[in-house]
Amino acid sequence: MRHVAIIGSGPAGFYSAEALQKLYGDEIRVDLIDRLPVPYGLIRSGVAPDHQSIKAVSKRYEKTALSPNLRFLGHVSVGDDVSIEELKQLYDAVMLATGAPHDRPLDIPGSTLPGVVGSAAFVGWYNGHPDFAALDPPLGVAAAAVIGNGNVALDVARILSKTRAEFAGSDIACHALDALDHSAIRAVHLLGRRGPHQIAMTPKELGELGHLEAAAPRVDLEDFPPEADDALLEPGIRKSVTHLRSFAALPQDKAKTIDFDFFAAPVRVEGEGKVERLVVERTRLDDQLRSVGTGETYAIDCGLVVTCIGYQTPPIAGVPYEHGRGRFANADGVIGDGLYAVGWARRGPTGTIGTNRPDGFEVADKIAAACPPGSSGGKAGGAGLDALLAERGVHPVAFSDWQRIEAAETARAREGSPREKFASVDDMIAALGRP
Ligand code: NAP
Repeated sequence: MRHVAIIGSGPAGFYSAEALQKLYGDEIRVDLIDRLPVPYGLIRSGVAPDHQSIKAVSKRYEKTALSPNLRFLGHVSVGDDVSIEELKQLYDAVMLATGAPHDRPLDIPGSTLPGVVGSAAFVGWYNGHPDFAALDPPLGVAAAAVIGNGNVALDVARILSKTRAEFAGSDIACHALDALDHSAIRAVHLLGRRGPHQIAMTPKELGELGHLEAAAPRVDLEDFPPEADDALLEPGIRKSVTHLRSFAALPQDKAKTIDFDFFAAPVRVEGEGKVERLVVERTRLDDQLRSVGTGETYAIDCGLVVTCIGYQTPPIAGVPYEHGRGRFANADGVIGDGLYAVGWARRGPTGTIGTNRPDGFEVADKIAAACPPGSSGGKAGGAGLDALLAERGVHPVAFSDWQRIEAAETARAREGSPREKFASVDDMIAALGRP
């Protein structure tokens, strides 16, 4: 028997568990540990609440979780309740599938003013993540600036612009739905420090902006290279650019606007005790397609700035870390000495949910090479962890417990919504009848 602990129950954790089950069959026991009492990581609290079809992948993870050789241990904080070193003693392999939950900092003057919010916090807030439920972003303002030209920036701009009715069928947290319903924001500025050909937005998500009930996207065709150059782009990005160009022909008769400000790099946030404006510098591309400042600046009056400029993995004491890339230092997923990284913790915050599947399978192969199926490492595995946690008064949330939490969330959903998430850990635990 081999024993593997996976830390983090998002897509990377679940695909890795699935891969280990395929490689080892009955000869493996996998413990999937999560800090929260609820599984699925970014599927639950990162994927936009109005993209329910993407969240359906959790049904596949559920199947993995219900297999007899996998245990979910929620509400166990590695680093507090048990250390990495202890896990390494207990298991043949420890996989860090901890994602990249921290925002990359926007290092400009004024970026710590109230009203500047990172996308991890903002997305977590509208998705009911317990860490961010109390965020209370300033929405009683006329305009917001969203920095970044990736899919997260698109999500944030769309969520800020939708009407209450457009959230029907979503599982947006009630506190966010009510706050957004009363939002005074009428103008969203989406800032890209480079141009339309350099966006990191996928076509389907970009196309959605053209069909909003009360908001219209706006582009300035002056920002675009000659249309013939679109043919040189990769098919996906070409399709996105086609959407962008089509926005120029949309009627501008809606109450809200989403302006694409290209070649606009933020240089400072200004305001008396809170955000009042964002100063940006016009940029141009150099011959390596990098943005370079032109020295010309302008100001965008806004009371909310959401930075959507990528994420990083929080370091763990004693685990080698690559600061420049915001992830664990690893060679193809191997950190060393029985320790592995998968998903965003391994490669940084790139790719889609599906990218984590081959990633998990690749790292599982590395584990199988080091701990061949059919052999034993003589480790205590889950029984050892259970004893340690019991000694420390830590009571993990099992998968069957999560199913009870899930049933309670479904039962209290508003009409048409699949669930109303508990937005605090205490409420999740209380739903289990535990103190
Ligand atoms: P991303 O795709 O890496 O985009 C980050 C954006 O931030 C880029 O436009 C980048 O511009 C810009 N940026 C970085 N540093 C900046 C700075 N200092 N000032 C101004 N702009 C800056 O990251 P993301 O949007 O956070 O998405 C993360 C991953 O999740 C991506 O793989 C994404 O596709 C995925 N995701 C997918 C979906 C979906 O499929 N529906 C939804 C959400 C997220 P440069 O290009 O100039 O560096």
